[in-house]
Amino acid sequence: MALVPMRLILDEANKGKYGVGAFNVNNMEQLQAICGAAAETKSPVIIQVSRNALKYADKGLLSVMVRYMAEDKYPQVPMALHLDHGPDIETIKECVSLGFTSVMIDGSLDYGTKDDAGKHPARSFEDNVAITKEAVAIAHAAGVSVEGEIGTLGGIEDDTVAGAVHLTNPEEAEQFVKETGVDALALAIGTSHGAYKFPVGTEVKLALDIIDDVHKRVPDTALVMHGSSSVPKHMVDEVNKYGGQVPNAVGVPTAMIQDAIKRGMRKVNIDTDGRLAITAAIRKVFVEQPKAFDPRKYLGPAREAVREWMIQEMQAFGTAGHAGDYAPKTLDDMKRLYAG
Ligand SMILES: [Zn+2]
Repeated sequence: MALVPMRLILDEANKGKYGVGAFNVNNMEQLQAICGAAAETKSPVIIQVSRNALKYADKGLLSVMVRYMAEDKYPQVPMALHLDHGPDIETIKECVSLGFTSVMIDGSLDYGTKDDAGKHPARSFEDNVAITKEAVAIAHAAGVSVEGEIGTLGGIEDDTVAGAVHLTNPEEAEQFVKETGVDALALAIGTSHGAYKFPVGTEVKLALDIIDDVHKRVPDTALVMHGSSSVPKHMVDEVNKYGGQVPNAVGVPTAMIQDAIKRGMRKVNIDTDGRLAITAAIRKVFVEQPKAFDPRKYLGPAREAVREWMIQEMQAFGTAGHAGDYAPKTLDDMKRLYAG
């Protein structure tokens, strides 16, 4: 089927009370792995692309590949193509014209400037509302879904480097949704981007009660969890065993993500886990088969490692089995809904 609006996938997840993985891609192998896992587990899936991934893939390359996967290779799998951390209105317009069915406008940070520490400063609530409203007007006119963000996360994702971490204020979140009309809302509940989410040896803590509160206030808005990679120990150990140096990496335990989903979290963003799986697999081939120089000899196992992990994630989030539950909607259907 054609790519579907992300709103449709998340509305269905809200009805069925399950989570949907939103997986970042930069290349063909990651995309094949994720779509293959979705087909095998019969899961709807969100493919997401950051602005640096856009740049890396010559802007339009990834959207062409994703469309091929949705229309030709796996027509039975509902797939949305989403811009992760859209920094400005220009990028939103670009992605709408590339055929993305969803965009995130990250109005929580001012991507136009950096402070002395090299971090993007937080935007005020009013400025966040203003830029998000502008993005919603542009995207909804094309039937494209919009994710906003309120509060700031920690950590590093591509060059999305946040300054101080501010957890989401539920009251503000409610006001933000009402004023902007976003379809999905990213909450800051203590997760961070990257492989080092928590100090090693300490108890992993998230402000899960924020999810309960916001879900009660805006039950029709899909809540989004950024920085949700589990950073599985076996992957980190494998990377380090074969010459890598990723010591003390810690992620969000799967059980905690499942708890978040029970409380109303619907979109679960995963990037780091895919990176680790690929790196571990490639390092292993390089150490064990030093004579190999055909890229398929190491990118093939890397792809398989990602696929295996994504299958586990789709099962853990409760997404598995839901691909055939609902009738697809087009961007034109959404345009009419938003206009009405
Ligand atoms: Zn993020």
